[in-house]
Amino acid sequence: MAGLATGCYARLNGYDTLLLEQHERPGGVCASWRRGDYIFDYCLHHLAGTDPASPLHDVWQTLGALDDTPILNAESLVRIEGPEGQALELYRDLDRLQAQIEAMALQDRAAIRRYVDAARSLVGADIFSMGLAGPREMLRLATRLPTIIGSGRTSLKKLTEQFTEPFVRRALPHAQYNITGPEMPMLPNVMFLGALQRGDLGWPYGGSGAMAQRIADRYGELGGEIAYGAPVREILVEGDRARGVRMDDGTEHRADLVVSAADGHTTVYRMLAGRYTSPIIDDYYCFEAYPQEQAFGLTIYLGVNMDLAQEPRHLTLLYDEPLELWGGQRDSLYVETMAEDTGLAAPGKTVVKAVTTGAYDPWNELRTDDLDAYRAAKAEVAQAVAQRLDQRWPGLADHVEMHDVVTPVTVERYTGSFHGFQPWSAPSAGMRVMMQGLTRTLPGLEGFYHVGQWADAMIGLSNAAMSGRSLIRRLCRQERRRFVE
Ligand SMILES: Cc1cc2nc3c(=O)[nH]c(=O)nc-3n(C[C@H](O)[C@H](O)[C@H](O)COP(=O)(O)OP(=O)(O)OC[C@H]3O[C@@H](n4cnc5c(N)ncnc54)[C@H](O)[C@@H]3O)c2cc1C
Repeated sequence: MAGLATGCYARLNGYDTLLLEQHERPGGVCASWRRGDYIFDYCLHHLAGTDPASPLHDVWQTLGALDDTPILNAESLVRIEGPEGQALELYRDLDRLQAQIEAMALQDRAAIRRYVDAARSLVGADIFSMGLAGPREMLRLATRLPTIIGSGRTSLKKLTEQFTEPFVRRALPHAQYNITGPEMPMLPNVMFLGALQRGDLGWPYGGSGAMAQRIADRYGELGGEIAYGAPVREILVEGDRARGVRMDDGTEHRADLVVSAADGHTTVYRMLAGRYTSPIIDDYYCFEAYPQEQAFGLTIYLGVNMDLAQEPRHLTLLYDEPLELWGGQRDSLYVETMAEDTGLAAPGKTVVKAVTTGAYDPWNELRTDDLDAYRAAKAEVAQAVAQRLDQRWPGLADHVEMHDVVTPVTVERYTGSFHGFQPWSAPSAGMRVMMQGLTRTLPGLEGFYHVGQWADAMIGLSNAAMSGRSLIRRLCRQERRRFVE
């Protein structure tokens, strides 16, 4: 996404560009692929900037990401279901959300109010497009600072302790994509609820791959060149200035500027052999800092010959009896259902996608040692998930027509991304990294820029797109040229 956005804005501003993409198609982790009557979508859950009033919407329009694509707005962020049929649904209508929790736990009225009011106060503050904010928007955001700081410092777990109702206490820590743990702050959750109420964070029909392709098409219309199946091995440096790249096959491309949108570890330590780094960058990528496993590390897809169009789109299922999966037990699963209306399934059929934590090392060792055993383990995981979801949708296991499982090793193979991971929090200089990014430029190296989630140590399609935009804006400023967008 960052590479494509950089390319589009560069072309709009008169730069000659060549995008080199190692994979056979555009999008990086913003990917989907067909399996029979189903499209399995890896990335998109919610897209910031689908609201036409959001400044991010203009970025997506410039990139041709949305065009006239229908946007689906789900009723709720997630419905969390307990083993005994209890449910807590985080509606995007905040009054409805408040009424629902009050009906479950009137004694917790004060805590409910604090939670829902935090989300309400962010309805009018579009934090997702902060990177585009002018003085007026910054002022508006500043008035929300107490909520932003307060909910940034409060963990979802701490929020939960304010409630007495047992199921609310059990469910709330799972409120944000089922990413649990004592450190998970409440801020993303109230930001998402506020944005959903505002009409943002929709889902473009057709999903991730279709959106990435539209942007690649836009880049082509702007006269940009792109080469697929083109892995870069090395960034060519002469006199501490990037001069081009050398490809895996040994061919070279010379350029005035080199922009990497690839992962930071590969860019800094392989393409540039670790010659331009800093203690903050080294701290970030050192063994002690990076996670051994991540939320969203394991994705299980089931193509099911059942129409689940009336089912909640986003679900978290909590279990008393843990689900046994290769690599350990799970006490919950985050599940999405995508029927015909999403553009991902044929009429009467549904893609069911389950997401849980996944570790890199064990999957990598298994695949390296024994490819057949790796494939068998993935099939076992798909089967175990299908059996468990059969309890929620009786008959499901017998109606699975296609399945697929994505491990961190899969992601590494398809995107080159370090251990198939997403960026993690910076272990040192956290505030500096948040404000200035991690590797947007490298100390001592001229003519080189890094864009995307690894440059900023920050995930999000909109962040990746904004990162490309802001680089070209910066170059235009340096050359005292008007920035075209
Ligand atoms: C499971 C999952 C769900 C997500 N859900 C959402 C969501 O709902 N909403 C949202 O906004 N964000 C979401 N994100 C985050 C978002 O997808 C990413 O932050 C964003 O797509 C990152 O884009 P990028 O361009 O920075 O990196 P990447 O997508 O990793 O792009 C890097 C590109 O560089 C290429 N490359 C790497 N090495 C080389 C090389 N040597 N030579 C040539 N090419 C190379 C790769 O093939 C790839 O195309 C999700 C992420 C994941 C993993």
